[in-house]
Amino acid sequence: MGMQSMPRIVKDLSAMPVRPHLLDYPRTVADFNWQATAPWLDGLPAGGINIAYEAVDRHLARGRGARTAIRWRGKDGSRRDLSFADLAQATNRFANALSALGVGPGERVFVLMGRLPELYMAVLGALKARCVVSPLFSAFGPEPIATRAEMGDARVMVTTPELYMRKVKGLRERLPGLRHVILVGGAQAVAAAAAGDPSVHDWHTLVDACSPDFTIAATDPESMALLHFTSGTTGRPKGAVHVHGAVLAHAVTGYYALDLHEDDVFWCTADPGWVTGTSYGIIAPLVQGVTIVVVEAEFDAATWYKVLARERVTVWYTAPTAIRMMMKLGTEALRGHDLSALRFMSSVGEPLNPEAVVWGQQAFGLPFHDNWWQTETGGIMIANFAALDILPGSMGKPLPGITAAIVRRTEGGGVQPVDTPDTDGELALKTPWPSMMRGYLHEDERYRKCFVDGWYLTGDLAHRDAQGYYWFVGRADDVIKSSGHLIGPFEVESALMEHPAVAEAAVIGIPDAMAGEVVKAFVALKPGFEAGEALRRELLGHARKRLGAAVAPKDIEFRLNLPKTRSGKIMRRLLKARELGLPEGDLSTLESDEKK
Ligand code: ATP
Ligand code: MG
Repeated sequence: MGMQSMPRIVKDLSAMPVRPHLLDYPRTVADFNWQATAPWLDGLPAGGINIAYEAVDRHLARGRGARTAIRWRGKDGSRRDLSFADLAQATNRFANALSALGVGPGERVFVLMGRLPELYMAVLGALKARCVVSPLFSAFGPEPIATRAEMGDARVMVTTPELYMRKVKGLRERLPGLRHVILVGGAQAVAAAAAGDPSVHDWHTLVDACSPDFTIAATDPESMALLHFTSGTTGRPKGAVHVHGAVLAHAVTGYYALDLHEDDVFWCTADPGWVTGTSYGIIAPLVQGVTIVVVEAEFDAATWYKVLARERVTVWYTAPTAIRMMMKLGTEALRGHDLSALRFMSSVGEPLNPEAVVWGQQAFGLPFHDNWWQTETGGIMIANFAALDILPGSMGKPLPGITAAIVRRTEGGGVQPVDTPDTDGELALKTPWPSMMRGYLHEDERYRKCFVDGWYLTGDLAHRDAQGYYWFVGRADDVIKSSGHLIGPFEVESALMEHPAVAEAAVIGIPDAMAGEVVKAFVALKPGFEAGEALRRELLGHARKRLGAAVAPKDIEFRLNLPKTRSGKIMRRLLKARELGLPEGDLSTLESDEKK
């Protein structure tokens, strides 16, 4: 089954302004081993590995403290630049503040705020104090905050007066373990929100009073560092546990998959409330000593171009949902922006339609490099690399140090690798690797079930072609069984996306007495196209021609928007539940404008 409909994008190394790190893929893969890579990290003077030391302090030790670590751009036009030395001091102060509050190693610090500089100080400072950090997306409502804080045993919450008043204050009785709230905001707003409650602290009063010196104590690389909740695309979010030692994978993937070089200006559009926004919005680039651009404002395609141009971003990490928004806006919006600094663009989070890869090439003169990973894997596992050709629609090849396979589950409860190229099966990764999750919080049984015969089973279906490229088929939960065919939603959605009218598509299976299931598509249109019977017929015809009658949708329904998680993933399960009148399940991560 071949999804490839677009020509291969051939890389011309001589045209690249910077020599990519990964030039000889087979050799790098053959020579790689994690143990030998350990010296990429400095390690703590006191012993062990601490993420915040690798991301911040070690650059001072190397005399690079003056380099800009964070370039913050506020909503109101204000700007703040923090050097690695500034960031070291700010995170030291916060680590000292936690100690002053009696908060010790292993205790959980939740961070709930927009992309303010203090968010970055809190995350890295708490890691220095060897607390466990759980970043929450600031647009969560009280209920999702409460369930996560309860489940994660939140001891401290760092937030703003506004978010505290609106969402957290009313939860305090439900969260008796939440002993301290630290508010980032204007003195008046903080005082009003605290209302004399001694457990509510003003960031500035508390943190500014603390010493800018802090020595990170010996940190066991296996100790818990981050608690990340999954996107909830397929059901109730799981709490994935990650350890300090994971930072080796961030270093390696930042180097090979994102091709980060010392002088880069890097922008990751993901919010730190999601794993991408932490692993690659904070940790990986800082570990490489790279400047990160942090944009407080909510994103829209027109401002993206401005940020890319104004900040002279060189490496950009974004997501299919964002790329589809830009495609919807059209290339005109790009005109007049000087994007000459940009040299590498990548995408994660959802399947990247071949159409979108090629669009990047047309609009930016650069293709988007798709890569694949999950909250559970902690870092990029499969990627398209700067120096390697792209087959649009493919996720690329496994990172050095990562062994991937397509497997089938056997009757005896084991798994069997499928070596025949182009054969669908479950995507599996050989254990272990440094950023592999170490548990699903309070769900040991579920965690254990992910591992069989030395493989981690991802729950995603894929195949590998004869050249070693991996192709996403769909989530195991979303695959459609129709008249003996297994249909991956991605293939059908990508075919629909080729049509000029289609902005977004989502495909589900509808029970059918004859076929078992039949394919139904939900489609959102680009501006200027009218939903109606004529276009519906045209799209059905287009899909049939591209895919054949057995795989093409039997029905297409137009929607203004498709339901998505707050991390930007289309929620097929919700379309299906609504279509079939079934319970909608956990909606805690649903974008609110989609709620009924
Ligand atoms: P939940 O596990 O709660 O249902 P989720 O799986 O969406 O949510 P994440 O860990 O944020 O939570 O997302 C990982 C998943 O996203 C992958 O398992 C895969 O299904 C999808 N994904 C990520 N990157 C890609 C990609 N490049 N191509 C296709 N799918 C991708
Ligand atoms: Mg998942």
